[in-house]
Amino acid sequence: MSAAEQTDPAALRAKYRAERDKRLRSEGNQQYIEPTGRFAHFLDDPYTVRVEREPLFDDVTVAFIGGGFSGLCTGARLKQAGIDDVRIIEGGGDFGGAWYWNRYPGAMCDTAAMVYLPLLEETGHMPSMKYVFAPEIHGQARRIATTFGLYDNAVFSTRVTLLEWDDQTSRWVIHTDRGDRMRARFVAMGTGPLHRPKLPGIPGIETFIGHAFHTSRWDYEYTGGDPAGGRMARLAEKQVGIIGTGATAVQCIPHLARDAKELYVFQRTPSSIDVRNNHPIDPEWFATLQPGWQQRWLVNFATLQSGGFADEDLVKDGWTDIAKRIRDRVVANLANGGDLSPESLLRAYEESDDEKMTEIRARVDEIVCDPATAEALKPWYRQLCKRPCFHDEYLQAYNEPGCHLVDTDGKGVERIDETGAWVNGVHYELDCLILASGFEVGTAAARRAGFETTGRGGETLTQHWAEGMRSLHGMNVHGFPNLFIVGPSQGANLISNITQNLTEAGSTIAAIVGHALAVGADQVEATAAAERGWIELLETNPRSFGGNPDCTPGYYNNEGGPIGRKERLGASGYPDGPVAYFDYIARWRSTGEFTGLEFC
Ligand code: NDP
Repeated sequence: MSAAEQTDPAALRAKYRAERDKRLRSEGNQQYIEPTGRFAHFLDDPYTVRVEREPLFDDVTVAFIGGGFSGLCTGARLKQAGIDDVRIIEGGGDFGGAWYWNRYPGAMCDTAAMVYLPLLEETGHMPSMKYVFAPEIHGQARRIATTFGLYDNAVFSTRVTLLEWDDQTSRWVIHTDRGDRMRARFVAMGTGPLHRPKLPGIPGIETFIGHAFHTSRWDYEYTGGDPAGGRMARLAEKQVGIIGTGATAVQCIPHLARDAKELYVFQRTPSSIDVRNNHPIDPEWFATLQPGWQQRWLVNFATLQSGGFADEDLVKDGWTDIAKRIRDRVVANLANGGDLSPESLLRAYEESDDEKMTEIRARVDEIVCDPATAEALKPWYRQLCKRPCFHDEYLQAYNEPGCHLVDTDGKGVERIDETGAWVNGVHYELDCLILASGFEVGTAAARRAGFETTGRGGETLTQHWAEGMRSLHGMNVHGFPNLFIVGPSQGANLISNITQNLTEAGSTIAAIVGHALAVGADQVEATAAAERGWIELLETNPRSFGGNPDCTPGYYNNEGGPIGRKERLGASGYPDGPVAYFDYIARWRSTGEFTGLEFC
């Protein structure tokens, strides 16, 4: 489709539909393979040797399941509130969560470090770059743990297998794969929205006899190199295949293109690749920031990213750019006598998106030398249909002589055999197959977390959520006393900066636990009415992040499958947006009333 044709919105929409239809699969989210049984080794920890220890049967005030930023931020806020007896339980060999596991070369965060890295002022860290790489993010996780003494009582390489409420003693009993039966007065869990790797359900995948691993378990023993991007010398004579071209693949492909003898990128849907424009942070400028700066940056970013107004755009990047374009169109439309009807808002969104995506497609032509490869790398969907990507070396990688794009025209790899992969009847011989196939979304919470939670009267969380997630603030669940869920859903749901959801949740949990301890309450629980009321409120949200069925399939829209109430509830957020939610929850927890919770 030429640049001129792209200026015709109807033609563009028709092209988007045709590209989406190619990718719709009847299996939907069932197309992926769970890493269990003969695929269970894809979950093995390549970074830490598991050390045997005696099982634990002790009792702590607060146990947190998950040692990522959820656990760390909550742990920090609890310690700040004077609640010292905190234990974090983590399946990996160290803190870091996503950043413990994802050590693939080139891994970095697309959200600016000034707002993404939590507790920068509390830990005294200056980000080295506008966007920082995974080792620095992992370093910040470890720094938070050290600053707040969270290593002292933590247990690592320990997977929770069952969480059970004991009403007699008002304690949670935590069963683990180490034979532990720890008890805790309060339990919080932050097991991550994108945590459990999924594998592509390609026929014959189990027959491949070469080396294979998932990007979240990078095998540096095999490839050589290191997470800092050192040369992967052991790939110099290898034919490497990578399946997937999502945000992960976009970051590691430039490194593989540089180091492998031949790299075959098996593409089903191209990502949108906007500019990165990374640069070092100037220490002199950083030193001029006044105390409280990070909170101001967080509010500024969340405001602009969700379509609000601010005098200045402090972060100024691809996330705020698209939101500002839409907002400015709405304002111009109003100034010209337009209105705020859903149709006008939709038009402003579509016009801004058409403009942005046309720029993104033009960028592919500017960078990629081979016209056929450039054509295949162009994304034909709205930017927010898939996770937007930002990179200044990805498209350039296809100009390397050893880097080959194998475009499957939306169909995916046909089959895999002992020695390689088949696409369009052509066999690609591979020594190594890297699966950049992403993480489970939309499967049952207990399956993703790896354990079931049994509340009052033996009801499981899976049963309670059979018709969709139900909570107060995304955090408290009726029938599950003294339990806190930490994640973006049913709260702020700020997707562009996940950690802000988590630091706020930490403050809320610290306030609730502090109050329960102060008044001597054994149990704190959301009332049924409060939970119901919150869900009713969420369901009034016209902007609910439930996924758009018109989009190209992916985990944002249930792989193009049906998006019913259950899917919408799992991905919903506060009707007035993240900034309003953060204001609301800060007021809610500071009144001391904790409306909707019952302390007894
Ligand atoms: P994704 O789920 O985004 O991507 C998986 C990829 O695998 C897609 O390209 C998908 O194609 C492809 N795929 C799946 N099955 C097949 C098949 N049978 N044949 C060919 N291709 C197949 O996973 P990622 O790990 O890339 O990213 C997950 C999320 O993690 C991101 O969306 C983001 O939220 C987060 N992340 C953030 C980063 C950051 O901040 N920079 C970096 C990395 C990840 P298709 O698109 O057609 O489904």
